[in-house]
Amino acid sequence: MDKTDFLVIGSGIAGASAAYALSREAPVLVVEREAAHGVHTTGRSAALYSAAYGNAVIRALTLASRAFFDAPPAGFADYPLLSPRGCLYIAAAGQAGALAEVEGAAVASGVAMRRLDAAGARELCPILRDGHVVQAVFEPDAMDIDVQALHQGFLKGIRAHGGQARLDAEVTGLTRAHDRWIVSFRDGAEVSAHTVIDAAGAWADVVAGLAGAPPVGLQPKRRTALILEAPEGVAPGPWPAVIDADEQFYFKPEAGRILASPADETPSEPCDAQPDEWDIAVCVDRIQAAADLPVRRVLRSWAGLRSFVPDRSPVIGFDPACPGFFWLAGQGGYGVQTAPAAGRVAAALALGRPLPDDVAALGVTAAMLGPQRLR
Ligand SMILES: Cc1cc2nc3c(=O)[nH]c(=O)nc-3n(C[C@H](O)[C@H](O)[C@H](O)COP(=O)(O)OP(=O)(O)OC[C@H]3O[C@@H](n4cnc5c(N)ncnc54)[C@H](O)[C@@H]3O)c2cc1C
Repeated sequence: MDKTDFLVIGSGIAGASAAYALSREAPVLVVEREAAHGVHTTGRSAALYSAAYGNAVIRALTLASRAFFDAPPAGFADYPLLSPRGCLYIAAAGQAGALAEVEGAAVASGVAMRRLDAAGARELCPILRDGHVVQAVFEPDAMDIDVQALHQGFLKGIRAHGGQARLDAEVTGLTRAHDRWIVSFRDGAEVSAHTVIDAAGAWADVVAGLAGAPPVGLQPKRRTALILEAPEGVAPGPWPAVIDADEQFYFKPEAGRILASPADETPSEPCDAQPDEWDIAVCVDRIQAAADLPVRRVLRSWAGLRSFVPDRSPVIGFDPACPGFFWLAGQGGYGVQTAPAAGRVAAALALGRPLPDDVAALGVTAAMLGPQRLR
């Protein structure tokens, strides 16, 4: 039987980032059920880095990830991981309070935000409808993320550090014997591991059930994305991402076209999420109310599951009720932009160390992340 110290279940951005950080120090095996990496939520994101987005813990992990994004280790990726985008949070009549909340929370976390009037917002994104936007705040340091490069960089790094990543390897059983886990796979193979890290995305509670760990109450929520044509004769490249202050929709340039979302959060079972016609129609409707964007046809659509626990912070830490079982779940809609820091946090805690200094300095504690807060 193969043996490892850390067996990471799920090779999405969460599992890959943690395995990358751990593999510098210990034997690591990442196992993925699918035939390719990034098939589920990681391959379906909007690829945005906005430090204003999410609760205080998310904002801290996003900010703590920035240095890695800006300067990854030599050889990690062939091109920059981030490219300038900017993010414009807009408010229509009646949304001043929601906009002030976005701004206040971001500024409290040290994120640079600039107030704009309607004219200033339209200068940045000229298709915004006259009369719709009343005020806006602009986050100049928001970026587009090259998600594929980040994910592949982590996976390549794991191998370079002597770790392994296996595809077509679905974990179907977890049994505790002599202070180790016997991990069973669908094809009958078994691996012995000191610690199991549950980075199974929407399936994290299902995997916990295999180990006999109590669930953390993870709720996968479907989110839809579409690709639309840009208005004729218009090059959207320089526009920022535009997000409604109440997060009822967002859109951003994407390779000469427009990526749009109705920002839906429909509860779902863990599954291979598919877009729903209704959500696509809602998206088109909401965006057309805010922007002069004629939609002749939807070029492509997809959906993915963003998985949350009730406080919308990630779950990172050992399960006190299940020795050797470590949670890395609940990345919600922020798992890519937080991955460099969340991976380091997971590695430190899994190795029995305190949180990295830079993350602790931003006010994050192990108790804010651990599964015990949810029980
Ligand atoms: C439309 C949309 C837009 C988004 N936009 C952004 C954004 O702009 N910025 C951002 O930061 N985040 C964004 N997100 C969120 C981000 O994509 C997620 O937070 C992140 O990808 C979650 O990563 P993960 O590794 O936890 O999950 P996943 O990528 O789903 O990986 C989990 C893996 O575990 C595997 N697995 C499950 N069970 C088993 C088992 N028993 N054995 C082996 N393997 C198993 C699965 O096959 C899967 O590959 C968005 C998400 C969506 C859907």
